[in-house]
Amino acid sequence: MAKKQFKAESKQLLNLMINSIYTHREIFLREIISNASDAIDKLHYKSITEPEAVNVAREDFRIDVAYDKDAGTITVSDNGIGMTKEDMDANLGVIAHSGSLDFKKEMEDGAADVDIIGQFGVGFYSAFLVSDKVTVRSKAYNQDQAWEWTSEGADGYTIRECEKDSWGTDVIMHLRPDDENGAYSEYLDSYRLRDLVKKYSDYVRWPIHMMVEHEDYVETGETDEEGKPKKDWVVSVRDEVVNSMVPIWQRGRDEVSDEDCKKFYMEKFRDWEEPIAVIRINAEGAVNYRAMLFIPKVAPFNFYSRDFEPGLELYSSGVMIMEKCKDVLPDCFRFVRGVVDSPDLSLNISRELLQHDRQLTTIRANIEKKVKAELTRILEEDRDTYSEFFKAFGPQLKYGVIEDYGMKADMLKDLLLFQSFEKDSQITLKEYRDAMPEGQERIYYAAAESVARAKQVPQTEQVRAKGYDILLFGEDMDEFAIKTLREYDGKEFCDVAGGDLGLESEEERKVSEERAESEKEVLGFVKEALGDRVVDVRASRKLKTHAVCLSTDGDVSLEMEKYFSSIPGGDSQNIKAKRVLEVNIDHPAYAALKKAYSEDGEKAREMAEIMYDQAVLIAGMPLDDMLGYSDRVFRLFGQ
Ligand code: ADP
Ligand code: MG
Repeated sequence: MAKKQFKAESKQLLNLMINSIYTHREIFLREIISNASDAIDKLHYKSITEPEAVNVAREDFRIDVAYDKDAGTITVSDNGIGMTKEDMDANLGVIAHSGSLDFKKEMEDGAADVDIIGQFGVGFYSAFLVSDKVTVRSKAYNQDQAWEWTSEGADGYTIRECEKDSWGTDVIMHLRPDDENGAYSEYLDSYRLRDLVKKYSDYVRWPIHMMVEHEDYVETGETDEEGKPKKDWVVSVRDEVVNSMVPIWQRGRDEVSDEDCKKFYMEKFRDWEEPIAVIRINAEGAVNYRAMLFIPKVAPFNFYSRDFEPGLELYSSGVMIMEKCKDVLPDCFRFVRGVVDSPDLSLNISRELLQHDRQLTTIRANIEKKVKAELTRILEEDRDTYSEFFKAFGPQLKYGVIEDYGMKADMLKDLLLFQSFEKDSQITLKEYRDAMPEGQERIYYAAAESVARAKQVPQTEQVRAKGYDILLFGEDMDEFAIKTLREYDGKEFCDVAGGDLGLESEEERKVSEERAESEKEVLGFVKEALGDRVVDVRASRKLKTHAVCLSTDGDVSLEMEKYFSSIPGGDSQNIKAKRVLEVNIDHPAYAALKKAYSEDGEKAREMAEIMYDQAVLIAGMPLDDMLGYSDRVFRLFGQ
């Protein structure tokens, strides 16, 4: 019979498996058992949704782990859905999950000592970590013909007809002979195997049976000199269910530690990092349910892309009904992973129905409260951890503020962090608010990529001179988020690059307005020279040592304009800030302009243009006409 070839990547992965000197080989058992459990899940699900097609009682499902010392094999059997010939071809000839592909790449990068196999799980192929030959005998439910798949590794596999009494699957692993890489025979031992099942597969919901050796001190049937029954140690072998089967989320706090839950998370959700928090809910009332939720420490690589699919696993009394249920997870907390299990949810509920389910809405509202409370607790008690969390998921919280017309803005506002100019750390809006000195009426922010950069923006001068802190808005959505919030605790947000900073007293305002009035003619000239590049030219009341700056009128800031122009296509290109050139009329540069204005109109015009271009450059924006700017500056050299 001709051998079939594995798909290319599968072949590479197999090679790695076979040649691996990986020390955590023992995970092969977890992988094979989890496939058996999945297969039973599938058939069980069918027995509920199509009772006319599948007739198997729930209590009859089982997994068996057996070993044969003489043959050197371990066999994992299940009475799950089974495989047809086509299934075998399709499912056992390719790598099933992308985690395996990542694993392969990592290995090639030489990161072989990292516990990659343990972290990701590599599915069916992990059998080759310990075997030099794997045989799979399977019969799909309600089919007459059973099939046998055999492979001795990377050079391919064969499928042929075989005999099998009942439906389901046997995976027979022929262990390698012991060599310098390992003692594979250690797995041919009932205690060792039982420990492995307990360690990795304890929560599997189907019973895992094993013939386990027992040594009992029992009566032998003989009597001693005094006529008492004799006792002796006798070894017997018994069929035992070795896993506890109760899912971890169904257990009490006193039974399962947070550490155990975190381990469960890492295995189940394939994360390298421990989550920063475990939230356990045991709700009784309008809806009865248990939930175990995790707040991850790092964002999955695709978290901020369309590929990411949020949702919690939804169970009904321990039976999974949906893998990613969005309806129980508030979208602003879409980074949360975990499971929700409720006996009140019916098993064959359709997806459409689910969306309208009041029970789910209740669960979601409750989960939102719990997650918010937990994040608040971490924020208050462990700022370092929170900062790390915020680095990964802060952008998501800010999106959450903006989304749905700001519906969640109020709920989320105290979870936000912004870089402080003065404190050299990230602070909450409340911390900013609490530190505001007497007389400060607004919350100031500067949009720039860093504090160092923002400090170069002339407008920050006056605010800082007053002793007021400024929040750095380093990300595009910061301003959008704040525009959604509008104010915090009665204090308006104020862009330091905006028009009016509200810093002057009535008295001061009057003085500067009079001063500005006296410069009206020259400023008018500048405005005219700049044409429609600006909506106004003003005597600045915020500049101290610098000559010019650019500010804006209206709702669109320069940073927002930059953001909109970065979005390809569409109307957003046309969203422009209304630019205002602010001029420091106490600056020597202004004096020079004024002098030119009275002596040489053409020169004054050039100087006005340079002033504007300088302001644009300081604001970190590109000039429309770089060469023209340069020429003008050099012409000034010659004068
Ligand atoms: P995954 O479990 O992530 O899908 P695996 O590599 O572990 O990936 O398994 C590949 C596929 O082989 C499974 O998706 C399933 O279709 C099939 N399979 C493996 N073991 C069994 C089994 N015991 N019964 C039925 N199908 C199985
Ligand atoms: Mg699997």
